[in-house]
Amino acid sequence: MKDLRNFTYEDLAQEVKVLEEKPYRALQIYSWVFRFGVTSIDAMTDISKASREKLKELFFIGGDGAVKVITSSDGTRKFLSGFSDGLSVESVLIPGEDRLTLCVSSQAGCALRCAFCVTGKTGFSRNLTLSELSSQVLSARAILSPNERVTNVVLMGMGEPLLNYDNVIKFINILTDSRAFGFSHNKVTLSTAGIIPGIKRLGEDAKINLAVSINATDDKTRGDIMPVNAKYPLKELISALKDYPLANKRFITIEYVLLKSVNDGEGRAVELARLLRGIRCKINLIPFNGWQGARFETPDERDVTRFADVLRRAGYETFIRFSKGADVGAACGQLSGSFGKGFAGAQSAAFQAETL
Ligand code: SAH
Repeated sequence: MKDLRNFTYEDLAQEVKVLEEKPYRALQIYSWVFRFGVTSIDAMTDISKASREKLKELFFIGGDGAVKVITSSDGTRKFLSGFSDGLSVESVLIPGEDRLTLCVSSQAGCALRCAFCVTGKTGFSRNLTLSELSSQVLSARAILSPNERVTNVVLMGMGEPLLNYDNVIKFINILTDSRAFGFSHNKVTLSTAGIIPGIKRLGEDAKINLAVSINATDDKTRGDIMPVNAKYPLKELISALKDYPLANKRFITIEYVLLKSVNDGEGRAVELARLLRGIRCKINLIPFNGWQGARFETPDERDVTRFADVLRRAGYETFIRFSKGADVGAACGQLSGSFGKGFAGAQSAAFQAETL
């Protein structure tokens, strides 16, 4: 049996041909699955009963749906999706003034082991399938109240999306296909720790927004907190960003996690401004979100503001992203893939917030 949520339109067209079904069946099925999000083949009412029976012998519609939802005091909702092999990932719905952003996970666990991120602690389990990626969007929809709509999707949850390239690029195509999820390209953002070959491929394959976690201004500091820097050092990363094909009026987002006394000094801000010269970018500063056992601290507000001021004076559009959802372990770097562990992280974050 094959899961229909694992099929791109092109793959489905191939299957339909083999089944000797009319070519338009592919579009019908594809729209039912991704546009209307049906959970049974019987719900595809414009397909004859006989054809549906034939389909049911070969296909099913995957996605166990959200297993559990938890809501933060700031309105951020985190949900856990469990998969048939016992693994689970978390996704986050983040409300904004004029938007509702869905943060999607791309892998169960993560192999990169960034020292400040709790996902890396659990290690890497496996890549998510196209069905598991798409199901996060459909589960989010199922959770929303009737007057709500996801406006933006960010691939910034658990995992490194560019290390699950093939499924992620199919997912991006489905996200931005008006016959499927129908998000415009500029409402979708992929965040990477700096996998250079993946950045190059993405530049050729997709027109979505790119975010890159720079997090440090020299190889020594970056290598200490992001082991991936040994393979893809800063200089090469920066040069890949300079070469990245950007459409008119579009920017690369540079993410910089601020860790107290590690990378939050004024001198570092000056270095960052210099490093990024020549890249059309805006900068998101993310003050460290705590979790139990972390060896880092959240920077002082004064240092965060000073860091931002240096960058703004150097001409960079700079935002300070106080992550939402910290009280339920839903903030950047707090996703562990299990609500049990998430709660432990959440408690420490809430505790930290109280004691600051
Ligand atoms: N692997 C991708 C996407 C997941 S991480 C990447 O590295 O970009 C998403 C963002 O959260 C990254 O910018 C990362 O640097 C940041 N982040 C991770 N842990 C964090 C923490 N504890 N506090 C604040 N930001 C964190």
